[in-house]
Amino acid sequence: MDSHLLEILVCPLCKGPLSHDRENHELICAADRLAFPVRDGIPVMLESEARSLQPAPSPDAA
Ligand SMILES: [Zn+2]
Repeated sequence: MDSHLLEILVCPLCKGPLSHDRENHELICAADRLAFPVRDGIPVMLESEARSLQPAPSPDAA
C-alpha cells in the first residue's frame, strides 16, 4: 500500500494514527484496539467493518 496514503489516514473514531499490519492487510488503531481491513489496497475505514483486537498482553504483566 502507498505509504503516503497511510500517513494521511487516521482512525475515524479517535482520529489517532494507524499502523499498517502488512501481514494481515489491516490498519490497526492501538487506542481503540480495532483493525480496519484493507481490501484490494483500499482501506475500509468503517467501524462496522473493523475487527476488534484482543487486548495485547502487557510485557510488564507478571
Ligand atoms: Zn482509534
